[in-house]
Amino acid sequence: MSTTLAPAADSSTRDLEQRVELIACGTRAGKTRACDRHRGKGRGFVNIASTGAVDALAAAICGTGRSPACRDCKGKALEIMRVYNEGAA
Ligand SMILES: [Zn+2]
Ligand SMILES: [Zn+2]
Repeated sequence: MSTTLAPAADSSTRDLEQRVELIACGTRAGKTRACDRHRGKGRGFVNIASTGAVDALAAAICGTGRSPACRDCKGKALEIMRVYNEGAA
């Protein structure tokens, strides 16, 4: 029962993925790209964000794949949801 929107793979989608990767990696002043470990994971995080499953997203960011995620990753998940909803609007 998912009504997942499949965003077209255009530049704004890629842009959103990069922002999401960076949040998952950890934002810092002057940092504009995710590290190798997090780069390329944006699409997966965006897919989870599109389902609205914050807990699953946090767990994916944490790297365990199952909840509960740590507090740090929950915060990142919420931030990603916010960015995703902005981008999808
Ligand atoms: Zn990283
Ligand atoms: Zn974590």
